[in-house]
Amino acid sequence: ATQPHHKLNDGSTIPSLGFGVWQVPDDGAAAAVGKALAVGYRHVDTAAIYGNERGVGEALANAGLARDAFYLTTKVWNEAQGYDKTRRAFDESLSRLKLDHVDLYLIHWPSPHRGLYVETWKALVELKKEGRAKAIGVSNFQPDHLNRILDATGTKPVLNQIELHPRFQQKKLRAVHAELGIATEAWSPLGQGKILEDPVLVELARKHGCKPAQLILAWHLAVGNIVIPKSVTPERIVENFAVFDIKLGEDDLAAIAKLDDPAGRIGPDPDKAS
Ligand code: NAD
Repeated sequence: ATQPHHKLNDGSTIPSLGFGVWQVPDDGAAAAVGKALAVGYRHVDTAAIYGNERGVGEALANAGLARDAFYLTTKVWNEAQGYDKTRRAFDESLSRLKLDHVDLYLIHWPSPHRGLYVETWKALVELKKEGRAKAIGVSNFQPDHLNRILDATGTKPVLNQIELHPRFQQKKLRAVHAELGIATEAWSPLGQGKILEDPVLVELARKHGCKPAQLILAWHLAVGNIVIPKSVTPERIVENFAVFDIKLGEDDLAAIAKLDDPAGRIGPDPDKAS
C-alpha cells in the first residue's frame, strides 16, 4: 500500500508515519535514517537536543532524494526559548542539517516556568513567513498553552506532538485538538517498547497475523494520529513501516480503547518539565 498522508490546517501535508530518532547517537543516525529512507520512510523526526541533526542531515543528503521528496521535523530546545535565541537556534539546526529549510519546526516543550513560549511561538511564526520553516507546530502543549499562543498571535500550530500510546490515549487533549483543527502526532507511540507484551495487544496481533508493534502502529493510523516510531534495528525499521494494510475493526478498536490508563504516562508532565 502507498503510505498515507495527513492534510494539515495550513494546507500542507505530512506523511502519517515518520521515523523518530531520539536516543540515536549522531554517528549512528546516518545508518539508521539511511535504512529508513531505503525502506520507504519519507518523514524523519529529530530535535536539537537529540544531538544527531548532523547525522540525520548526512543520511538525507546521501539518499539522493529531491528535497520535496522527504519531510524533516526538528525542534527548538527549552534553553533556547525566547524570540532571538530561537531564531539563532533555528539557524544552528539548519546548518547542522545542511538544509535551507525544514518542513516542520516545533517548540519542544512549553516549559511554562520560563514564561517564554509565546515569544518563542512568535519567532516560529516569522520563520514560517520567511519560508524557512514550511510549517510550524508545538510539542507537549496542554490546552491552556495552546490557547495562549492562539490568543497572542492568531496563528495555529499545525500539530501538537504528545506522548500517546494504547496505555495513555490522551482522549481529552485529542478532543481539544479536534475542536481547534490541530493534528495529533504521537511520540513514544509504542510506549517505548514497554507495552508490547500486553496480552490484549498480543492476541489482536495474532488475530491480524502481525507483530504487536505493527498492531499498535495500525491503531494509531486508524484513530487519526501521525506516528513516529523509533528503532535502530534494521528488521524492526522494516516491520514498523509495513503496517498500512493492517485494518482494524470496531471490535479491535473497542478492545484497545479499554487499555487507556490515566496513570499510563511514561515521560514528564508537560506542566512541570524543565
Ligand atoms: P517508541 O514508542 O517509538 O519505542 C521505541 C522502542 O520500542 C525501541 O527503542 C525498541 O526498544 C522498541 N521497538 C521499536 N520497534 C519495535 C518493534 N518493531 N518490535 C519490538 N520492539 C520495537 O519510543 P520513542 O523513541 O520514545 O518515541 C518515538 C519518537 O518520538 C522519538 O524517537 C522521538 O522522535 C519522538 N519523541 C518526542 C518527544 C517529545 O518530547 N516531543 C519525546 C519522546 C520521543
